[in-house]
Amino acid sequence: MKIDHLINGKSVAGSDYFETINPATQEVLAEVASGGEAEVNAAVAAAKAAFPKWAATPATERAKIMRKLGELIAKHVPEISETETKDCGQTISQTGKQLVPRAADNFHYFAEMCTRVDGHTYPTPTHLNYTLFHPVGVCALISPWNVPFMTATWKVAPCLAFGNTAVLKMSELSPLTAARLGELALEAGVPAGVLNLVHGYGKVAGEPLVSHRDVRAISFTGSTVTGNRIVQSAGLKKFSMELGGKSPFVIFEDADLDRALDAAIFMIFSNNGERCTAGSRILVQQSIYADFAAKFAERAKRITVGDPLDDKTIVGPMISKAHLAKVRSYIELGPKEGATMLCGGLDQPGYAADLPAHVKHGNFVWPTVFADVDNRMRIAQEEIFGPVACLIPFRDEADAIEKANDIEYGLSSYVWTENLGKAHRVAAAVEAGMCFVNSQNVRDLRQPFGGTKASGTGREGGTWSYEVFCEPKNVAVSM
Ligand code: NAD
Repeated sequence: MKIDHLINGKSVAGSDYFETINPATQEVLAEVASGGEAEVNAAVAAAKAAFPKWAATPATERAKIMRKLGELIAKHVPEISETETKDCGQTISQTGKQLVPRAADNFHYFAEMCTRVDGHTYPTPTHLNYTLFHPVGVCALISPWNVPFMTATWKVAPCLAFGNTAVLKMSELSPLTAARLGELALEAGVPAGVLNLVHGYGKVAGEPLVSHRDVRAISFTGSTVTGNRIVQSAGLKKFSMELGGKSPFVIFEDADLDRALDAAIFMIFSNNGERCTAGSRILVQQSIYADFAAKFAERAKRITVGDPLDDKTIVGPMISKAHLAKVRSYIELGPKEGATMLCGGLDQPGYAADLPAHVKHGNFVWPTVFADVDNRMRIAQEEIFGPVACLIPFRDEADAIEKANDIEYGLSSYVWTENLGKAHRVAAAVEAGMCFVNSQNVRDLRQPFGGTKASGTGREGGTWSYEVFCEPKNVAVSM
C-alpha cells in the first residue's frame, strides 16, 4: 500500500517513500511519502489560498461539515481503530473503545463550540470596548506517535471549526490513520486546501513547516526536546506546546486503597505506558507503602502482554526498536541506581515463548515495577514512556508535595485521599497543568489541557483553544 500527501484536496506522490512498520508483527504496513520543503511550501500555499473563503464561511456551515466528519469517523471506528492498532501498537480495546470514538467527539464538540464564539464587552463612560475572535490563518499541526489519530483530531477539529486552515504533519512512526482522516474530511465536505497533510520526518518535513513565514500558529504535541527546538526556530507565531511528563500519583494512607490501586495500575500500564499523562511516579505514604507495593506488583504481574489486536491485551508492543531499546535501558538502570525490581525486567522467563507466534518478534517489554525508588534517581526523573512504574515512599503531606514538585515536568498529577482539605491543599500546591483527585485521568473537552514547566506552554480544550486558534481583537468605540 502507498500513502501519499494530501495537498489542496489532491493526493500528491512523494519524491521518496519510507516504510511504516507494525510494531507487533514487524510487517511493513505501507510505503509513505516522505515530504520536505517543496511539499511543505505547496501545502502552506494551498492552505493560505483556501483561508479567506473558509474563514468567511458562516460558523453554522463549518459546524455542519465538522459534524459530518465526526459522524464519518464514528461510522468507521472498527476500521480506523484496527489500522491505528496495527500502526502504533496501542491495544484495540483502547483504540476501539476510547481513542477513536473520542476523535469523533472532538469534531462534534468543536462543531458546537464554533457557533458559540462570543466576545467580551468592557463599557466605560467614554468608550464601548468589545472583543472579536478572528481565525488566525494557516496553522501547523504536529502530532506524536503515541495516540496519533486522537491527537490529530484534537488539533484539526478546533483549528478548522474556528475558521483556520491547516497543514498536518503526523509522526513518521504512525502516519496511517491521519491519511484516512484526510479522505474522510474531503468526503465530509471540507474544501480543498483547508486541511493538508504532509508526511515525513521531523527535521525534513516538520522543521520547514514550523519555520514557514506564512504559518501563523503552531499546535505541537511531542517531546520536550523537540518542543524546545521548535520554539527556537518558529519565530513570531502563536503556539501551544504539549510536551513530555513524569506525573506524580500521590496516595495518602487515608485513601480508598482499592480504587487507588486500580487507577494507579491503569495510569501507568494502559496505552502501553506510552502516555504523556502517565502516573509514572507513584508516591505512596510510608505507613502503607510495603502493603501497597506488594499488591501493585501482584497486579502488574497478571497484566496481559501481547498482540494488541487481541481484545484481552493490556500492554502491546513499544512503537519501535529504538524506543524499545530506550525503555529497556531504564529497566537495566533501575537496579544499578539502587531500586528494587518487584516484577518485570529484561528477561522474563518464558515471556517470548508465551507470545503467539505471529508477534514473537514484536517490540514487547514486560510491565516492570521498581520499589524503594528515590525521587532523584534517573528512573524517577526522566520520562521512560513505557510500562515501568516507580514506587516512591513519602512521610507526610509536606514531603509528598516536595517530592511531587521536585521534577522538571509539570503535566498531570493525581492525589488520593479521603481528607477533603488535604485533597484541595495538595491540588493547589502541586506544580502541574492538571490535577485529578481520587480519579484517573478523565478528559472533559472543556477543560484546559496542557502542562507547565518542561511539560509545555499554552492550553487547549474548550475556550482555551482560542489561545492558539483564535486571534482576539479589541474594538474601542468612542461614545
Ligand atoms: P517527538 O518530539 O520526537 O516527535 C513529535 C512530532 O514532532 C513528530 O511528528 C516528529 O516528526 C516531529 N518533529 C521532530 N522534530 C521536529 C522538528 N525539528 N520540527 C518540527 N517537527 C519535528 O515526540 P514523539 O516521540 O513522537 O512523542 C512522544 C512524546 O510526546 C513524549 O515525550 C510524550 O510525553 C509527548 N506527548 C505529549 C502529550 C501532551 O499532551 N502533553 C501527548 C502525547 C505525547
